[in-house]
Amino acid sequence: SDHALTYPKSPAEMDWASLYPAFAVKKPAQGEDGKEIDESRADGQAAHEEEQREARAITKDVEIADIGCGFGGLLFALSTTFPDTLSLGMEIRISVTEYVQEKIRALRSQNAENQGYQNIGCLRANTMKFLPNFFRKHQLRAIFLCFPDPHFKQRKHKARIVSSTLCSEYAYVVRPGGYVYTITDVRDLHEWMVGHFAGHASWARVEGSELEEGVVGQCVATMSTETEESKKVTRNNGEKFVAVFRRIEDPAWP
Ligand code: SAM
Repeated sequence: SDHALTYPKSPAEMDWASLYPAFAVKKPAQGEDGKEIDESRADGQAAHEEEQREARAITKDVEIADIGCGFGGLLFALSTTFPDTLSLGMEIRISVTEYVQEKIRALRSQNAENQGYQNIGCLRANTMKFLPNFFRKHQLRAIFLCFPDPHFKQRKHKARIVSSTLCSEYAYVVRPGGYVYTITDVRDLHEWMVGHFAGHASWARVEGSELEEGVVGQCVATMSTETEESKKVTRNNGEKFVAVFRRIEDPAWP
């Protein structure tokens, strides 16, 4: 159940600075009299809230989300593959989230001299709920759905990480021109994901040589080799089904 999960009221309320301390917004310099509060703010409480918000803010946005990141293999690879981009792992299991957070701390201290691994963070969340509480509209360049739990029994369809409703939520947080990357070893789930994204007005399937070129190719290669689950499937000579979807422009309106 979700009762122990907490969500920010909005992306602006999210404490990003504690996840990415190297990117925390510097507090404005204090004036000579030590006061830093804008005189135009008559309301002390509002000024306080604004300060709190600043204390939680970071200088750039998270742009990649690894949904159901598990033990974080992809996240650690993304850190070095896209050193200038902030990536976030989201995981529902407490102990697994803590493991990834602990590993990030260790990697940061081992790579302190070159500021390594400052660009990744992990938090506990049920991503089937409240995704727009974490990310603003069109904030993300990419979402990864790597080996999501299959739940292929008919009665469990509601527990799937891809549905028509969730395709709309993913479309809200991913910018036009951004991507959703999916990989699974369960054919039925692959077909389910393709059916839902390809059938959704905001997404178009990426096919053919495009899957091997440029950033898309890099992402496909990384998720096919770096997640714990993909390594397991490789060891067992299992089959991997990959599908990528581009967020298409919203139609002009009216
Ligand atoms: N992506 C990783 C990989 O490829 O190695 C982990 C795959 S594992 C089979 C699926 C992960 O998704 C599990 O760690 C599970 O706890 C997590 N998960 C399942 N439902 C979730 C949800 N609603 N929100 C966040 N994480 C979820």
